[in-house]
Amino acid sequence: MTTDPYAWIEQSLVTIQRADWYRSVQTLSDRPGATVVLAGREVINFASNDYLGLAGDERLIAAATTAIHELGTGSTGSRLLSGHRELHRELEIAIASLKQTEDAIVFSSGYLANLGAIASVVGKRDLILSDQYNHSSLKNGAVLSGAAIIEYPHCEVVALKTQLSQQRQNYRRCLIITDSVFSMDGDLCPLPALLEMSAEFNCMLLVDEAHATGVIGKTGAGCVEHFGCTGKPLIQIGTLSKALGSLGGYVAGSANLIDFLRNRAPTWIYTTGLSPADTAAALAAIQVVQQEPQRRIQLWRNVEYLKNLMQQQLPHLKLLPTESPILCFQLPSPGDALRVGQHLKDAGIFAPAIRPPTVPTSRIRISVMATHTTEQIEKLVAVLRNTD
Ligand code: PMP
Repeated sequence: MTTDPYAWIEQSLVTIQRADWYRSVQTLSDRPGATVVLAGREVINFASNDYLGLAGDERLIAAATTAIHELGTGSTGSRLLSGHRELHRELEIAIASLKQTEDAIVFSSGYLANLGAIASVVGKRDLILSDQYNHSSLKNGAVLSGAAIIEYPHCEVVALKTQLSQQRQNYRRCLIITDSVFSMDGDLCPLPALLEMSAEFNCMLLVDEAHATGVIGKTGAGCVEHFGCTGKPLIQIGTLSKALGSLGGYVAGSANLIDFLRNRAPTWIYTTGLSPADTAAALAAIQVVQQEPQRRIQLWRNVEYLKNLMQQQLPHLKLLPTESPILCFQLPSPGDALRVGQHLKDAGIFAPAIRPPTVPTSRIRISVMATHTTEQIEKLVAVLRNTD
């Protein structure tokens, strides 16, 4: 019998296409910004996580360029094995200072930071309680850890408490994991209540500030700052790739936690250190975040302006409740989301359709930037008004 062991892949692709779940990548051909060139045409960009408009900032570009000239392009190996640069520690100290934690550790991506942190602090005899809408990196970190996993309904603290009351005593350690800003909805986790719960049931609490760092909180330190929880016993995760305009991820927390991760986290120990260019760009971005609060203020002005316009002029759109620069409205099917996404693109607006399996219901995700102009925001609303 000769069969093709890979034939199922083509079949799967056909199934994905039939369900309108098929995805393809769009090619951009200039620097990131409030407008980008997509397939040779300038469009207004509501599709990036570059909330502060720093990914194309001259200062970040200059810092990255200088780092390449002085330190080369690659980090040449794992930091433990091949050594690291002063720049790596400077970045970690800058993150710890922004977050007001004892220390921080930089990973090569936010995804790897979540995998490494979760898999290091819990194992087979432990329990993870995970918000149903958590990012893939938290979910896969939980699986990698080997701990028992219970998903609690999105942001429902009462349901979480019921699970803890019933299950906590059956496990050695317990870790609650949550996004702080939910990336496909835009709402915030109930951090103070989660902290209370973790204290009551002797649990660790890991919060992913990927979409909050640089964006939320008086100094841009994230939801932890916004909720007045600075200094609380937390494992804070984040990325350098969104508001900080670079690449990489981090964990911030107690000196012991960070020291432990340097000795245990497989996604830090067994992977090459962040490149000098990415490290320098992220360091420059943190300086901008700390020195230019007006960028964050402008971002929130833009968010409020768009939200108000949408509520006044597009009341029929099912806007999900949001407290972040991520604004999503739901559509009945993946096909509808694709159609609206295409209509927007035809009209010069880049805002992606998000479909299952990424999210339970299809939607258009609009991501606001500090550098969007009033006219660009008004154009988005005008185009949406003409969408049936
Ligand atoms: N956590 C959340 C909530 C995210 O949205 C993302 C990126 N989409 C990550 C982690 C992963 O970060 P990175 O892109 O740096 O791997």
